[in-house]
Amino acid sequence: MPRTPVQAYALLLDESRQVALLESCGAVLGWDEQTYMPPGGAEHRSNQLSLLAGIGHERATSPLIGELLAELEASPLGTENDTPESANLREIRRDYDRATKLPKRLVEELSKTTSLAQQAWVSARKLRDFSLFLPWLEQVVTLKRETAQAIGFGSGVPYDALLDEFEPGVTAADVTKLFDALRSELVPLIAAIRESGKRPNHEILTRLYPIAAQREFSMSAAQAIGFSFEEGRLDIAHHPFCSGFGPGDCRLTTRYDEHHFPGAFFGTLHEAGHGMYEQGLDRTHYGSPLGRACSLAIHESQSRLWENLVGRSRSFWNRMYPAAQTAFPEALARTSLDDFYGAINDVQPSYIRVEADEATYNLHILLRFDIERPLISGDLAPADVPGVWNEMFTKYLGITPTHDSEGCLQDIHWSAGLVGYFPTYSLGNMCGSQFFEAAQRDLGDLNAQFAAGEFQPLKSWLNEKIHRHGRRYHALDLVQRVTGEPLSPAPLMRHLKAKYAALYGV
Ligand code: ZN
Repeated sequence: MPRTPVQAYALLLDESRQVALLESCGAVLGWDEQTYMPPGGAEHRSNQLSLLAGIGHERATSPLIGELLAELEASPLGTENDTPESANLREIRRDYDRATKLPKRLVEELSKTTSLAQQAWVSARKLRDFSLFLPWLEQVVTLKRETAQAIGFGSGVPYDALLDEFEPGVTAADVTKLFDALRSELVPLIAAIRESGKRPNHEILTRLYPIAAQREFSMSAAQAIGFSFEEGRLDIAHHPFCSGFGPGDCRLTTRYDEHHFPGAFFGTLHEAGHGMYEQGLDRTHYGSPLGRACSLAIHESQSRLWENLVGRSRSFWNRMYPAAQTAFPEALARTSLDDFYGAINDVQPSYIRVEADEATYNLHILLRFDIERPLISGDLAPADVPGVWNEMFTKYLGITPTHDSEGCLQDIHWSAGLVGYFPTYSLGNMCGSQFFEAAQRDLGDLNAQFAAGEFQPLKSWLNEKIHRHGRRYHALDLVQRVTGEPLSPAPLMRHLKAKYAALYGV
């Protein structure tokens, strides 16, 4: 007896779930590697992870999935529009095609090359010597172009195939249009802030903030905004991240510096924003695309929304500042809320992306997009990256890197083969602001709620409008559905202009 579409669909979801379970085992090992594993465990751990990755890839590309997809796509389940089933089929097909289109030789070569390229990048960055990294960047670019060819791109733009890995359905043309509009308003705003001559007292944030108190205070803030520690943890890692293992278990990490308050505090709020997205996924769909986060930009919209729109707002600190003064008496007892609020919203052009403030951060991303796109099309030679980087950096931010380690060598992404990833950070900022405006229309004065310590309405709104859909809609469709408008940089610019008008008089 041939199986019915319903039986085939159940089988397919079962396969999808097994792949997700294997991935989540890798996530536990990866989290442990970054947090508690002693250095001696490195080699054994890499063997464990590569075995799991191999099994996972085999399962994800099994001919059975291909057969089931072909059967279901021809059945009523696959031809209906806008049902949970059709969305799952569309997304499983997408993952399956991406995983099976790359020849094994290319996958192995990419893995070997990027592992060596990362080592070369570490030394090049340490020695501030781009020439040590150049041959590896050339190889990575060649392999990523091959990847784009293997995946295919209807648009005629190879970069689209790479961007699509991180941001399904978004093209370089979409990003260019959004980024051009953002750039034309952001560059003059930042120049005006620089020329205003107003500078907050940044020293406030480098006073003594004992680590135990930072941990307690950050955790209480994460809990207040809605991250559940019944179903999550916060640990220490050198490079902070959030890892959702699956239903009921989401891990956050941060790092502490006793003389730098914002690092751990805003880092924790940021990761808690990611974590609340993971905790808000519909667990009845665990293992299928509907139970997974939509895309990197949407993930980043959640972290940035809680970190910046909530955590760096005046209303949030109206609520939290007395507790901060109690937690850090030596640093804050005699400091006014105004001075503290100014310090955490300092806008200052700087060289390093991960240390950049809320406004200048986006210029760091625009620059990377402007470089990686012509790198892939062949219009920019890898050898010319440092020169182009410094020239654009000066144009956007008004300062020039003095060496490549504070310029084009600062990020790990390209050495790891992550090309097409950077744009998602700024897309996330735009989505976050646009969601926030829509939430405000639905929920009333959010700032008044924050000042009263009420974060639950915003969290529930995000659960309902965004989290529970998983991958049902691609990012741009989701934004349109949730906010009633296509994605635009206007809400982000409105937010930045209003905030800095008050702080800098610009
Ligand atoms: Zn993030």
